[in-house]
Amino acid sequence: MAWNIVIAGGGFGGLEAARRLERKLPHNSAQVTLVSDQNFMLYTPLLPGAAAGTLEPRHAVVPLREQLHHTHLRLGAVTGADPAAKVLNVTTGDGRQQELPYDHLIVAVGSVSRTLPIPGLAEHAVGMKTLPEAIALRNRLLQSLEVAEGIDDPADRAEWLTFVFVGAGYAGLEGLAELQDFATDLLDRYPRCRDQGVRFVLVEARDRVMPEIPASLADFAVRELKARGIEIRTGTTIDAMTADTATLAGGEVLPCRTVVWTAGVKPSPVVKSLGVPLDDRSGRIVVDRALRVKGVPGVWAIGDAAHVPDPLDLERPAPPTAQHAIRQGRKVADNVILTLSDRKPRQFTYKTLGVFVDLGRGKAVASTVGLRWRGVPAWFIARTYHLGSMPGTTRKIRLVADWTVGLFFGRDGSELGRLGHPGRLDAPDEIAFGGAGADADADDASTPPEGEPASTAPAPEATDEDAQAAPRVNASGD
Ligand SMILES: Cc1cc2nc3c(=O)[nH]c(=O)nc-3n(C[C@H](O)[C@H](O)[C@H](O)COP(=O)(O)OP(=O)(O)OC[C@H]3O[C@@H](n4cnc5c(N)ncnc54)[C@H](O)[C@@H]3O)c2cc1C
Repeated sequence: MAWNIVIAGGGFGGLEAARRLERKLPHNSAQVTLVSDQNFMLYTPLLPGAAAGTLEPRHAVVPLREQLHHTHLRLGAVTGADPAAKVLNVTTGDGRQQELPYDHLIVAVGSVSRTLPIPGLAEHAVGMKTLPEAIALRNRLLQSLEVAEGIDDPADRAEWLTFVFVGAGYAGLEGLAELQDFATDLLDRYPRCRDQGVRFVLVEARDRVMPEIPASLADFAVRELKARGIEIRTGTTIDAMTADTATLAGGEVLPCRTVVWTAGVKPSPVVKSLGVPLDDRSGRIVVDRALRVKGVPGVWAIGDAAHVPDPLDLERPAPPTAQHAIRQGRKVADNVILTLSDRKPRQFTYKTLGVFVDLGRGKAVASTVGLRWRGVPAWFIARTYHLGSMPGTTRKIRLVADWTVGLFFGRDGSELGRLGHPGRLDAPDEIAFGGAGADADADDASTPPEGEPASTAPAPEATDEDAQAAPRVNASGD
């Protein structure tokens, strides 16, 4: 093999780059290795559906080995790099440290939730960025209904029936809409909760929701959600939270047991250890228009982790969306191939083809090549688009099957938070019911099963270093 190409991260950008290299590299001209801390790509637009039970969580992911035929998949966490020696440092699932030499390195490690120093946030809020978080949210909703149904005092019950979402981007708006839809579907099975009703509140610091879509579509989405009884508080921030309250700026206290934090992302913490220049404001890796990392030969960066000049406004970074990551994945593969044959790499150009925001209940808003869609047609276009974008025929079929079953038979309301986490053989009941029923302010709560909400088992926020050192090898999340 003449060349060694290493890709760090197997999400939208990394997987697309690997697939393109497989297709376009001359036969046996290079060895391509993809390093990822999980053996699947998470198709994030389906995350709200996984949380709301419209599809099986496993069907929101694409197993990397199903898609890659010649690429070597190395499961492990990237922990650092030495660009001068051209090696990438990796910690494998069993804790071994390895050094991977490369001629070209493509960094595609994506992003993580961006937290703020808000009292109680790290301990009590749930994210909506990973599969375990989506499943935790689903379990939390079901546990809350179960607990609320057993409470006599309506004021105490209301706490368990109130869900606050912070941040009105893709994850917040779609997550809120889908979860509220799920909750109202389930209410018929919980008579006391049904009589009282559930309360969903969306808190957004900016003065409008979804800046990614045209204002007229955002207004439609707001009207649709308000008609369902959802409270939308724009121009509002959250000041503090505890296990059973969220305090808004201005002092209003919302009694609630679930706060979902979807207020932005930041690059994966490992970018700080790669010896590459980072943008002062966003912390993303600075690349030129051809996706080359500035001043570091042989290193390229794409997707949410990179500050790629937006072709429409070179002063700003391209938006952190899957659409951009996929196109950058293709472009970086082409550019690596051009560079290997001593040709000049080309600039990244891309204009967003369309945006879709699923609102649950068979409704959505969409904007596609100049046309705007609302309601059922937009929902149909959105589902068709995601079906087309989901890699692999078998994955598409699984998705259609889930959606079809859901349409005819409704959603499953069983809460399987302990799935894959049995108690010890000699103490099978060690893990208390679900977790929501456990005293939320118990300080000594033990490590929760995967998918359990953090507020019922407080855990300190992982540091950047922890995040790098602990690979999430093959965490399927359910
Ligand atoms: C709920 C939700 C809904 C969304 N909906 C849309 C949508 O409808 N349309 C749209 O365009 N965008 C959407 N997005 C945004 C989109 O998901 C991201 O922009 C996209 O995933 C970025 O792709 P990426 O390749 O940069 O990163 P990712 O797809 O996140 O991939 C990064 C990969 O790197 C791995 N990784 C990270 N750190 C390490 C490490 N140290 N070692 C090894 N591997 C590592 C990760 O596990 C992951 O597999 C949504 C996001 C969310 C959270």
